Amino acid sequence: MASPSSQASSSLDSPAKAEPSLLRRLNEEKVISALRGEGALTRAEIVRRTGLSHPTVSKIVGELFEASMVEEGELKQPDLGRPGKTIALANRESRVFSLVIGAHRCSLISSGLDGVLQQGEIEVFSTPNTYAGLLKKVTGILKDQISNNSARVLGLGICLPGLLDAENETVLLSPNLLWLEGKQVGLDLEKNLGFPAVLVPAMAAHYLFESRHGRARGMEDFVVVNYAGGLGIAACNGGRLVDGRGGLAGELGHVTVDAEGELCGCGNRGCLETIASDRAVLNAVSQRMGNSVTLPELIERVRSGDREFDDIFERAGRYLAIGLAAAVNIFNPQAIFIYGKFLGAKEGLFERVVEWTHERALSLPSSQCEIFQAQRDPHECQQIGAAAAIIEKLTQSVSNQRGVINEKGAA
Ligand SMILES: [Zn+2]
Repeated sequence: MASPSSQASSSLDSPAKAEPSLLRRLNEEKVISALRGEGALTRAEIVRRTGLSHPTVSKIVGELFEASMVEEGELKQPDLGRPGKTIALANRESRVFSLVIGAHRCSLISSGLDGVLQQGEIEVFSTPNTYAGLLKKVTGILKDQISNNSARVLGLGICLPGLLDAENETVLLSPNLLWLEGKQVGLDLEKNLGFPAVLVPAMAAHYLFESRHGRARGMEDFVVVNYAGGLGIAACNGGRLVDGRGGLAGELGHVTVDAEGELCGCGNRGCLETIASDRAVLNAVSQRMGNSVTLPELIERVRSGDREFDDIFERAGRYLAIGLAAAVNIFNPQAIFIYGKFLGAKEGLFERVVEWTHERALSLPSSQCEIFQAQRDPHECQQIGAAAAIIEKLTQSVSNQRGVINEKGAA
């Protein structure tokens, strides 16, 4: 047992020990962020962009080379001074993989450390129906990829539906893939593959995509809403993802909006996502028709002028606006990015939802917020977000938790 004097001395020592490593991480983050933003830069350009000294930049770049995170490019002649070789985040000699696990399909793709997906190499497969099946499939594909490509694989980002226990890197709740619950898929794949893996919940992946590669780059306060399945949100406040005590924040879809409403998958009644989501619209239409219809079929039907379901779309839109207005009032974001399909099926519906949102929200925060309909496929955004999660874990700039990305922001 430690003596009182040794306890005192260790508590005095620890801040001094922590400081250089924190400073190094922050400096490293500055260098990486400059490379991410600008592409290839010479050492002198990195010095100018980051405000760091030449020796500090040289040391950090040296460490990044050693970790195979950056590559040397062409010789570049700057406006002033001697020419120098450019440095860029590695995308030839090193790569990462991102895996998106969906209820019906999974996809696995590699990207460089710049986070750009290498489209030619995507593997899409039906989601296996057992956990052992999933591990075997992913391990098999990745081992094949590794043996057929000389680029070094540095890590794997895994985007999952459901809720995660960040501390234990365990899937807590996955209503559409019950066999995932209680499993440590990141740790198990790490053991099979020998390189680090990180778990990222679907909405956190959306947030990472939007903030690192999407229209929210440089924004500190924004909200991402995805109603493509149920309805989830990711809110970024002051540059940090709002993730709550256990990483479980953002469940706007399970706020009650109709006390006597439909039974929700969460066990409650009348949750927002039972009315204002693609799944809810599809269920309501299928019920009325007496047989099930797919979303592409429904969208096609509505676009070709069928007005039989106007009231269902209108109701879903009005309730979505209630949810968006709540997000405006609670988070005071400068932008909301909306992902999902039903709004796009009816001409003018998105514009009306924006109007209804502004009518319902308090006028001041409402006047500060712009609402955008995202055009990109949400699955692809999650793929890019999962790649960003593992890249940020590798650069040690993001999370102080070992293997689950829930929140952003250095230290
Ligand atoms: Zn619910």
